[in-house]
Amino acid sequence: MKALLLNILSFLFFFQIVAQDSDPYLDYFHQNVEKSIDQRRFNYDDIVNTINTLSNSPGFKVEQVGSSVKGEPLNLICWGNGNESILLWSQMHGDEPTATMALMDLFNFLANKQNPAGEQLKARLRDSLSLYFLPMLNPDGARSHSRHNAMGIDINRDAVRQNTPEGIVLKQTQERLRPDWGFNLHDQSRYYQAGYSEQPATFSFLAPAFNKEKDINGIRLAAMQLIVELNQLMQGYIPDQVGRYSDTFEPRAFGDNMQKWGVKTILVECGGNPDDLEKQVIRKYHFALFLRAFETIMNKDYTSYSVSDYEKIPFNRRRMMELVLRQAKFDFDGFETNLDLGFQAIEYNSKDYSDFYKRGSISEIGDLTGYQGYQDIDASGLELKKGRLYPEVISTVSLLDKAFVAKLHKQGYTDVRIKNLPVKLNRYDLPLMLHSSKKNFVNNAVRLYGNPSFYLEDDAGNVSAVIVNGVYYSVY
Ligand SMILES: [Zn+2]
Repeated sequence: MKALLLNILSFLFFFQIVAQDSDPYLDYFHQNVEKSIDQRRFNYDDIVNTINTLSNSPGFKVEQVGSSVKGEPLNLICWGNGNESILLWSQMHGDEPTATMALMDLFNFLANKQNPAGEQLKARLRDSLSLYFLPMLNPDGARSHSRHNAMGIDINRDAVRQNTPEGIVLKQTQERLRPDWGFNLHDQSRYYQAGYSEQPATFSFLAPAFNKEKDINGIRLAAMQLIVELNQLMQGYIPDQVGRYSDTFEPRAFGDNMQKWGVKTILVECGGNPDDLEKQVIRKYHFALFLRAFETIMNKDYTSYSVSDYEKIPFNRRRMMELVLRQAKFDFDGFETNLDLGFQAIEYNSKDYSDFYKRGSISEIGDLTGYQGYQDIDASGLELKKGRLYPEVISTVSLLDKAFVAKLHKQGYTDVRIKNLPVKLNRYDLPLMLHSSKKNFVNNAVRLYGNPSFYLEDDAGNVSAVIVNGVYYSVY
């Protein structure tokens, strides 16, 4: 009996430690993550169920406030009865979906029953704040994974002219609600670095300027102060991966105009994160960011921060690459030198926009000091050589099993010809560049903006790695 009691006590003790060590925001995320979305390419069909569920969920009000050019609903979702109001809009750029995912998780958190601490937090938020959401403001762009709306207009340049139904909805919603705070939710290129940190700017923030002089009034100051708090939260999760977006005044943009209209506005940009191409980790931190922002606004915890705290957040710099290969020996038609090579990639959508492939290309050659690769390889002592075309034509891709590919790589073969070449989409995911059987020559010379294949050879003449489509594969 005593042993059992001890067991229970030690279990409780252990449980308490675990509970103390864990982060409540991240716990709430894991308990409420909307599992039906697990990658970046999704559209209104994928969020409509969550939104419909909210219409019948106590505490929520869902109102269709307009339609996109192609007739998809634009919904305003309301929660909370407090005096301080916050308007959040996501995905006005259709190919920038990270915040929409995090909003779905947040809706689950607000709609579903939580543990006692979670319920307490929700009760306080409900009494202090009124939250208004316009998720996926550009559903037509989401469907074609493109920045612009169906008219080809950038909605974030339509705050003043009001040429788009989506821009009109956002402006009308602001005029009707007169929110105290605005959250302008975007994604940015994964090639932004946070200052000189040699890390990607996984999050970037901005308190947009409301005039070209970039003056700071009480509205903009409050936005800056909130950002200082959110930066501190993120430094705990992803140290040195937070940047500051350029504050050049853009008279057509919503963020800048919201600030001008008296809404304390912050821009949130989700960038790149190592091993997180589909942004499912960033989504988790974004969820945490929402809850911290709401708590901070509710408790007025931001007011002691200064402009200089905000300005300590480093500016974004476009210094990230998919691959940086450093100090490889290379023979340029008789001229020998040690050079760095940087590859970046472009995503191409599949026909139905549900999938994509990436195509790499060399974006910089020479001294890449200050650049950082998601793959960053010291190739000193190795010679960079043009990848070789395998002399035989292979009948089908399925013959390219692991052992066969390894055998080819060991001999410096990076390019193969296939009799039955598959569709473009899955051609680029392999550690070999595939060509049609008619191809009898490949140009794998180092060339700016080209996509040559290479192999790296050591002094003993052994192949140590291949580079195909801007991806580095070590060879064992
Ligand atoms: Zn954007």
